[in-house]
Amino acid sequence: MSMLQTRVGLKLADCAVLPTYIELDELIASPEALACITEQSATRLGMLPIAIWPGKLKPILILACPPHADSIQSERVAQLVDDRFQLHFVPCVSSELGLVIKRLYAAIYTSQQLLDMSSLQTDKPASIDSVSDYPVHLVNVLILQAVRMGASDLHFSPQRQSLAIRVRVDGVLLTLSCVSGSILSSLLVRIKIMAVLDIAETRLPQDGQFRRIIDGHNIDCRVSTFPTVAGENTVIRLINAQKQLHKIGALNLPKKITEQLFSLVHRPAGLVVFCGPTGAGKSTTMFALLEQLDHGALSVMTLEDPVEQRIEGIRQTSIDASRQWGYAQALRALLRQDPDVLLVGEIRDTDSCRMALRAVSTGHQVLTTVHANDVHGALHRLQDLYTDNSALALGLSGLVAQRLLRCLCIHCEEGVRGCEACFGTGYQGRQVIVEVLEISSVLKSSIMRGASIEELHEKSINSGFVNMRSMAMEMVSAGVTDVQEVNRVLGIESTLLV
Ligand SMILES: [Zn+2]
Repeated sequence: MSMLQTRVGLKLADCAVLPTYIELDELIASPEALACITEQSATRLGMLPIAIWPGKLKPILILACPPHADSIQSERVAQLVDDRFQLHFVPCVSSELGLVIKRLYAAIYTSQQLLDMSSLQTDKPASIDSVSDYPVHLVNVLILQAVRMGASDLHFSPQRQSLAIRVRVDGVLLTLSCVSGSILSSLLVRIKIMAVLDIAETRLPQDGQFRRIIDGHNIDCRVSTFPTVAGENTVIRLINAQKQLHKIGALNLPKKITEQLFSLVHRPAGLVVFCGPTGAGKSTTMFALLEQLDHGALSVMTLEDPVEQRIEGIRQTSIDASRQWGYAQALRALLRQDPDVLLVGEIRDTDSCRMALRAVSTGHQVLTTVHANDVHGALHRLQDLYTDNSALALGLSGLVAQRLLRCLCIHCEEGVRGCEACFGTGYQGRQVIVEVLEISSVLKSSIMRGASIEELHEKSINSGFVNMRSMAMEMVSAGVTDVQEVNRVLGIESTLLV
C-alpha cells in the first residue's frame, strides 16, 4: 500500500493547459503544493498553492490568488520557495480564499492515514473536528489518489462485512484498500451529497455528477449507485475535462494503418464504422481523426451519449433517448445543419442505421460505432440491422476494430515484474492495436449480392487484411507487451475460427 501513497503522478499534466480560473469550493488540496508554503505565509499573502506541474526549466507551482494580486505579493512567494519553481497565478473569488486556506491546510492526510482511521475508529487527529468531517476528507483523498494513478473509475464495492475500494487503471481493477463495512453508509451519504442525489434513496439506482479541481485539472466525476444485497455499489467515473485531444501521431500506430485511416476519413462521403468493447479507446481514435481535418473549411458535428470532452472547433451535441432525442431523431435534424463530417456515437437500431446511410448518400462523411468484437462481426451486425445490401455496400467505406493492450512497465528492474511506478502490476500505459478493413470494389460487390460473412472474410484476407492479433503479436516481438496481455484482451486464440 505504501507504494500507492508515495507515488506523485502528474501523468495528467502532459497533455493539458494551465488553468486560468479556479472555483475554490471544488478544490481538493494537493499535499505537495501545500507543503511548499506554510499555512501562516499563505494566509498572510492571501495566496493558496494548489498544484505542482512539471515545467520546461523548473516545476511550475500553481497558486490561487485574488484577481488583483500585485507584483510585491508574487515576489514574496518567489522568495518563500527559493526560486525552486516557476510561478503561475490563477485568479479566484478572493472573499472565500481565507477560509479555504484554513480548510485545506487542516485536511492534509494521505488516504492511508484516513483508511487506517476507518478501521480503528479512534484517535482521529484533533484537526478533524467532527465525525461528519471524516467522510469528506476520505472521499477527497480517494478521488485525489485515483486521479493521480491515472484511474478511469473509482469503485466502492460493498461486501458482506467490508467495503472494497478499487480503481480501474489501464482497464484493470486494482484494490486500493479493504475497509470496515461500518463506514459505507457515511461514505455514500457524502458522495450522494456531492453528486446532488437523494440520500434517503438506497433501493433504486441513481446517477449524478460533480466536479473537483485536482492538481489544477478540472475533473468531472460521474456517480452511479446501484443497490446490491450488501449495500449500494457505487462507481465514480473520473473524466479530465481539460485533457487535450490526442493527435493521431500520438497513438503510435504503424504508418500503414495511419494511412489507411486517413484515406477512410478523407473521402468526400462514406460510412466509417468503429467497433470494440467499451473502453477500447474508440472515441480517442475517432476524435484524433477528426482533429486533423480542416475545421475552417469543414463543418464537423457530433452526436454523443453524452458529450464527455469538449473540443474546440467542433459542434457537439448530447443525445437523450429518454426524451425522444435519440440518435435517429437527432441525426434527422442535424442533416439540416449543413454539416460535412458527422460523428454519430453509436448505431444501435435499424432507424439510426438507415439515417446514417442516408446521410452518406447525400454526400456526408459519417463516423460511428457498432457493438461488435471485430470488423467482420461489425459487418455482420450492420447486415443484421439493415437488410438493404446495396445501400450498405454503396455507403460503407471501411470498418475499424480496436483494443488497448497494456505495455510492459519500463521502470521495473531487470527480471522483476512490478515496481512503484506500475503499482506492482508490471504494466504501465497502453498501446492501441487496430484492424482496418477497407471496403474494396470486390468486397462491395460481394456485400451487394448478400455474401455470407465467411465468404467476405476470405475475400478480405485475400486482399491483404491484417487482423488485430497479428498486430498484437508484432507488439510482443517488439517487446512492447507480452502474450499474457494479448490473451487477456483478445482471448486465447481459437483454432476453429480464422
Ligand atoms: Zn514497474
